[in-house]
Amino acid sequence: MDDPDINPSHATFERFTQAQTFKDVQQHFSDLCKLLELNPRDKTFYKCLKEKLNWWKAKEMWGMFDKRASHADYQQRKVCSKNKSLVLGSGPCGLRTAIELSLLGAQVVVIDKRETYSRNNVLHLWPFTIVDLRNLCAKKFYGKFCTGSLDHISIRQLQLILLKVALLLGVEVHSGVEFNGLTEPSGENGWMAQIKPASHPVSSYQFDVFICAAGGSFRPEGFKAKELRGMLAIGITANFVNRRTAAESRVPELGGVARIYKQKVFQDLLTQTGIDLENIVYYKDDTHYFVMTAKKKSLLKKGVIKQDFAAADELLARSNVDFEALCEYAYTAADFSTGGQLPDLEFAVNHKGKQDVAMFDFTCMHNAENSCMIRERRGKRLLVALVGDCLLEPFWPLGTGIARGFLAAFDVAWMVRSWGLGAPHLKILAERESVYQLLSQTKPENTSKNYASYSIDPKTRYQRVNYSSVQPHQVQHLYNTDKGGSLNNKLKSKLNPTRQDSMSGFQELLRWCQKNTAGYKQVKVTDFTESWRSGLALCALIHHFRPKLLDMSELSESDPVLNHHLAFSLLEKELGVPRVMSPEDFTGAAQVDKLSMVLYLTQVQKAFTTAPP
Ligand code: FAD
Repeated sequence: MDDPDINPSHATFERFTQAQTFKDVQQHFSDLCKLLELNPRDKTFYKCLKEKLNWWKAKEMWGMFDKRASHADYQQRKVCSKNKSLVLGSGPCGLRTAIELSLLGAQVVVIDKRETYSRNNVLHLWPFTIVDLRNLCAKKFYGKFCTGSLDHISIRQLQLILLKVALLLGVEVHSGVEFNGLTEPSGENGWMAQIKPASHPVSSYQFDVFICAAGGSFRPEGFKAKELRGMLAIGITANFVNRRTAAESRVPELGGVARIYKQKVFQDLLTQTGIDLENIVYYKDDTHYFVMTAKKKSLLKKGVIKQDFAAADELLARSNVDFEALCEYAYTAADFSTGGQLPDLEFAVNHKGKQDVAMFDFTCMHNAENSCMIRERRGKRLLVALVGDCLLEPFWPLGTGIARGFLAAFDVAWMVRSWGLGAPHLKILAERESVYQLLSQTKPENTSKNYASYSIDPKTRYQRVNYSSVQPHQVQHLYNTDKGGSLNNKLKSKLNPTRQDSMSGFQELLRWCQKNTAGYKQVKVTDFTESWRSGLALCALIHHFRPKLLDMSELSESDPVLNHHLAFSLLEKELGVPRVMSPEDFTGAAQVDKLSMVLYLTQVQKAFTTAPP
């Protein structure tokens, strides 16, 4: 009876769980629905599927899904049962968000312009993401998922796992559908999407929640990105065929060999091969995957980059890169860093049938200025939220992308829950913006270790959440309404400021900091990064406004941790400015995070200029 060869629905279910391409997953899912005479668009799809597919292998999954769904936050999948959501992008973050919205009871449609899941590149998983994915049956869909001490997965395998979970829970997922903008309500119609092909059924879908998870370079109308310009950083990824031989399995992975810790390895690499790297990571997955940050000079010397240009986009333009030399460079770096132990290194091929090697520019990263907004036209409201890379662009060698992506997916689900519960709109926006302030600073060390209790409620995951660090009156510009007057005008000027506006905002803040720290010993504020490293500048600011709070003569430039402890706790206790960084963030080689510093100093400025002395 339990033999999949005998029961066609069991066999089809088995094929679905093991399918390795987007197309096959969709095909086997559709076959399964036909065999069980189920309509996946039915609101009670998952419940009916459970009743009809009463096979032990499936029942194991239902048990795990039901455990998650039974969490009080979801209110038995009813809390958002009146909400309809469109998720743009079936990357890992779009799909993870879609699953949560479905658990909240919302109707969820996901669209993606791509037809295939083809990215071999490997993502680092923080412990909580491994627990999260295990609880979503990752092991059943992909037997090799995080076996032993493995803490990574290829992008495509992760997408396949999440796609399968999403479909079983009743999420609609469409490939080959390109989003071209939102259509405002008219007549009886509510918010809709302009999509290509225009004849696709999704073009008539009306929704009140729009989640943008379209990756790094895409942001919907009305959202601005903050540019975080660092030093020139050129990333190279390379994938080699993994034949899974004993010899290959013996080669140890490299989990982020930063130059500072392995001076000798990098020096030997440079003297013996002419390759100069900042860092290199090696993971063994479906492929042997390498990601490294290379120095421009060595790329020029090795002929990978043909001509030197100051601007990164010109420097790394396709026409200025010799692909053969790039392959040679990546091959040599991979071979050297693994001690020549990986036998017969052969490049894996990408979806274009070419060697899977690529070079990316990480000099300029983008974070969204705001994480959400509400748009209202003709009385119809739309909650818009960003998630994943389009919210916070990750620097791949640091391996933060998926963890922060999933944290944001949960945070967004928490916001949609409030939307479903009918909370006041400005409060919803302010709470989401407050939580967003924490995201860029999250690390495994400063998020809760109690992974089993993680839920969509931010309090279960972040160590310090202050839901009101952003107040409703500060997010009025994120409520975009056609109800006349001031709110909308204010919004227009805030949504479409010129780059100069934001630059002059930065300059103004910098001038304010300079003015109020002038004359203090060992303090010279010239930027939002290194000038704040020792903590003395922050202490000087406090001393300038509240001289009684600290004694500058007792502080030393050589003790940044102590100085920051003091400054953060005074600002929190005396002025209610929540911390967004830890004192340890100012030690070590990593650059001080500019965005966090700007956000923090903005709060400090506001506190000193509005609080009574
Ligand atoms: P993505 O995974 O980028 O998904 C966004 C989806 O939106 C895509 O499928 C895209 O087709 C779709 N989309 C975009 N615009 C539209 C539109 N107008 N209409 C319809 N669909 C649209 N991270 C690492 O840590 N290491 C790596 O080596 C690495 N390599 C990468 C290689 C590539 C080519 C890319 C694009 C990303 C890579 N990343 C890497 C980043 C990593 O993939 C993301 O951090 C992770 O997938 C989470 O991203 P996401 O879900 O937010 O977006």
